[in-house]
Amino acid sequence: MKNFLSEKARSLAPYTAGEQPKDKRYIKLNTNENPYPPSPRALAALNTFKGDTLNLYPDPQAEELRKAIALAEGVSPENVFCGNGSDEVLALCFPAFFGEKESACFPAITYSFYEVFARFFSVPVQTVSLKEEFYIDFERLKGIDCRGYFIANPNAPTGAAVPLAEMERFIASVPDRLVIADEAYMDFYGQSCAPLTRKYENLLVVKTFSKSYSLAGMRCGYAVGCPSLIEGLFRMKDCFNSYPLDGICQAVCRAAIEDIAYHKKTVRLVISERVRLQAELRALGFTVPESGANFLFVGRARISGKEIYTRLKEEGVLVRFWDKPFLRDFCRITVGAREQNDVLIEKLKQILS
Ligand code: PMP
Repeated sequence: MKNFLSEKARSLAPYTAGEQPKDKRYIKLNTNENPYPPSPRALAALNTFKGDTLNLYPDPQAEELRKAIALAEGVSPENVFCGNGSDEVLALCFPAFFGEKESACFPAITYSFYEVFARFFSVPVQTVSLKEEFYIDFERLKGIDCRGYFIANPNAPTGAAVPLAEMERFIASVPDRLVIADEAYMDFYGQSCAPLTRKYENLLVVKTFSKSYSLAGMRCGYAVGCPSLIEGLFRMKDCFNSYPLDGICQAVCRAAIEDIAYHKKTVRLVISERVRLQAELRALGFTVPESGANFLFVGRARISGKEIYTRLKEEGVLVRFWDKPFLRDFCRITVGAREQNDVLIEKLKQILS
């Protein structure tokens, strides 16, 4: 049969999303979803959405949603861009700000989609190893000649978080380079760089509704930055897909971000379970670095990362494992609800014995 795939399509290695096996019901702790439901106000917005408007295209600028995000972030709507998941926002950053001669730089251990996007958009990549195993080496990053950086903070899949003051020192030290702070998990750490976008034109902060707002199924993410950066993202969106967010998504996410009390409550619940789970895992002999996210990086006990992953899967608990240097010593485990975490601990105790 003739192969119509372009040379590029044949050569690219796509990102592998977390598995969603359908053979039985699993306790799903492998894709950093929030175990709690979305805000009741978001669900009410879903239920009262006027279906008879679905014959019309949604607002391509997502104006009402951007206004609500701007209010929550203490910026203006012209400082906000929305996309179909923060993955799409991050993807659009590559053609907007980088090019074949304008390289992107990020830590060698970080969110693996950056590398995939870079190849897709033919952007050269430079990486810098982590220092002391889990921490980002900002001194070495500064020394790299590049157009800009992607810094996942907290980092994935380690969960290691960089305090705001350290991020600001880095941003201020590279005024001619763009710093894209991917804050997908920041609400579980609470030191967002978003307010710094009012001070630094070289900073773009990317966030998502998928994690702390429990809306992974809705697909919405956003960027906060100075108007020229936001304008760059709009230009790329309108070269690709004018309507990335449907009307239901815009209404639901708006209601979710307006429900500040519910958001705080679920974030607090996840953090308290993270603290408890980390202590329990350490008591079992695992190395578990400090995490500012809704997941833990767990490994180096008597069994390998692969064995933990495989044995837990047999027992009906899904966690994430990568068969790559450094990562293969660990599994990444999402913080679930209390009962899910209890099952996880019980199964691990059985496996270790
Ligand atoms: N950034 C990081 C670091 C992530 O782990 C993820 C989730 N896989 C994303 C961005 C993308 O999340 P979403 O597209 O659901 O907003």
